Amino acid sequence: MTDIPNVRLNDGHAMPQLGLGVWQIENDQTAAVVRAAIDDGYRSIDTAALYHNEAGVGEGIRRAGAPRDALFVTTKLWHDRHRDAERACDESLARLGLDSVDLYLIHWPAPRQNHYVDAWRGLVRLRDAGRARSIGVSNFERAHLERVIDATGVVPAVNQIELHPRFQQTALRAFHAARGIVTESWSPLGQGQVLRDPVVVELARARGCTPAQLVIAWHLALGLVAIPKSSHAARVRENLGALDVRLEPDDMARLAHLDRRDGRLGPNPATMG
Ligand code: NAD
Repeated sequence: MTDIPNVRLNDGHAMPQLGLGVWQIENDQTAAVVRAAIDDGYRSIDTAALYHNEAGVGEGIRRAGAPRDALFVTTKLWHDRHRDAERACDESLARLGLDSVDLYLIHWPAPRQNHYVDAWRGLVRLRDAGRARSIGVSNFERAHLERVIDATGVVPAVNQIELHPRFQQTALRAFHAARGIVTESWSPLGQGQVLRDPVVVELARARGCTPAQLVIAWHLALGLVAIPKSSHAARVRENLGALDVRLEPDDMARLAHLDRRDGRLGPNPATMG
């Protein structure tokens, strides 16, 4: 299998382009899923305080026995702790059993409560103290990004946003590229729904791969970071096979056409929280 490539973040650190998302995996199942994924070659795990499985992630990492510096662990700050980010991060670290995370994200801007700039200042302090190696945000729109950058001068390393062939976020991706922010795709498989799209099925057949591998290969070809989720060992392994799928310009053009104005599956960042 091909090694997982890295992207370079604006703070100089490297981040694996393909990782495992663990949303909706029960804590008591998480250790086994994470351990198997690391044994298969995954190096990056995406969790959050909200997922209530950070302890399982930490246990899986210990069971795998891989060197800490070979792994990339992301967790996230929930909006009830925007004004208390440092303590919230320390609590996540205690559950993970780690001294630091590789990436700490503000999970949602929650603009109505309007504390995300305070949260960002907390993340900057966490980075300066070495408890979060890199810091970023999730579900931020352009205006939220501009506000934290203007307030602190610190550009988030990553914005993790809903992104899949039915919801391609072209405008926000262009803004990220202009500001040196890496785009990370959540629900990269459209929560499984995109895998039944007839164009995806047809192109996968033509390339001799599975629909999930084709869609992950699309994210990788666009330079995005993708964190597909599965709790099934065979699918977790299958998704790594995307690294060996090469898409032609014509495939990319056909997938570009799947973008839909109403393709969003998750909450709207403007109203969430
Ligand atoms: P996803 O797009 O990764 O789809 C997951 C679903 O796809 C699985 O439940 C499974 O049914 C199916 N699937 C996975 N691999 C498959 C395969 N090889 N063949 C067939 N079906 C397959 O959706 P997701 O879980 O919503 O997103 C992935 C990760 O993104 C999450 O686990 C989480 O880490 C992250 N996330 C972050 C946010 C955020 O607000 N920051 C929100 C949602 C998800």
